[in-house]
Amino acid sequence: MGIASLARANVRALIPYQSARRIGGQGDVWLNANEYPLGTPYQLESQTFNRYPECQPQTVIARYANYANIPQDHILVSRGADEGITLLFHAFCEPGQDAIIYCPPTYGMYGVCAEAFNVTCHTIPLLDDWQLNLKEIERTLGRVKLIYVCSPNNPTGNLLNQDDLHQLLTISAGRAIVAVDEAYIEFASQTTLVPWLQQFPHLVILRTLSKAFALAGLRCGFTLANPEVITLLLKVIAPYPLATPVAEIAAQALSPQGIVLMQQHVNTILTQRTLLMNELTQCDCVDTIYPSEGNYLIFRSSVAGAIFKSLWDQGIILRDQRKQIGLSNCLRLTVGSADENAKLIAALRAQPTRNTTTIRQETV
Ligand SMILES: *Cc1c(COP(=O)(O)O)cnc(C)c1O
Repeated sequence: MGIASLARANVRALIPYQSARRIGGQGDVWLNANEYPLGTPYQLESQTFNRYPECQPQTVIARYANYANIPQDHILVSRGADEGITLLFHAFCEPGQDAIIYCPPTYGMYGVCAEAFNVTCHTIPLLDDWQLNLKEIERTLGRVKLIYVCSPNNPTGNLLNQDDLHQLLTISAGRAIVAVDEAYIEFASQTTLVPWLQQFPHLVILRTLSKAFALAGLRCGFTLANPEVITLLLKVIAPYPLATPVAEIAAQALSPQGIVLMQQHVNTILTQRTLLMNELTQCDCVDTIYPSEGNYLIFRSSVAGAIFKSLWDQGIILRDQRKQIGLSNCLRLTVGSADENAKLIAALRAQPTRNTTTIRQETV
């Protein structure tokens, strides 16, 4: 018998998450993973690593509590927000029985995790305006333990309506956990649901240092929830989820100077996003460019496939979204450095479009 046949059926059938690094590509302009374009240098203080780290490093928790304006017992730190997503499955979903809801087009990990855990995944697409289909969600709640939503939503860039989120929390109260992914919240900070934690014991908020804090390589994320939820998650988390160097650097990133630096980064990105948006509106090959509240933009083009390949060949790597529900002909790009954005615009301006082809044919 082959080894593969020993594996669980759902794992055999599983298509792993297509992370930007797995997809590959060769380039010097990486605009496919919503990373911050420039690195901040950090100094490690520890020189020896013979001791195990703290499970929940005290300084990191205290500083995040201060940053997020929330008590320390409302916080769990983990190996990226992705581990937070996984821990919720561990704690709340009975494999083969329970279900989750997620609402594409959105972040792919919720669905991949459900398959890995053998938990039924109810896919309830966002409406045409990329807002929640609350009627359908309410109708589907039966065996649902977890509802994942994302605001600002990746990859569409829009915020979910606060009234809808409030209604979602109301209809799911006592029945399911609502996990709101705030990976990009620093780019739209006034919209955080943190103040709602007092009122909703089943609200969970996912955060990360990977985006605005420019630390995707660190692998550090946070789950914010009421102590009852945090206690459950602490039962299933690994004994030493954060390596000592990770905890040290996270603490530095969350120091007062670290937070000022992050806010400067956010301002830079927001300025660049406005510039990019204006430039993209003037590119003939771009049919529609959508407003965004994150450090990324999504656009639609009738020649999206050709654009993706041409830029890929030039070492400018975008994220192809054409296979996502509702995103035919869409590509996502990360707002990069001024230099990277200029290269991107130059490459897009040089793209042949359907219009120019038509003109050429007419002239011939
Ligand atoms: C990038 C991203 C994450 C992953 O965060 P990590 O902390 O790097 O694991 C989670 N959710 C969304 C919506 C993201 O875009």
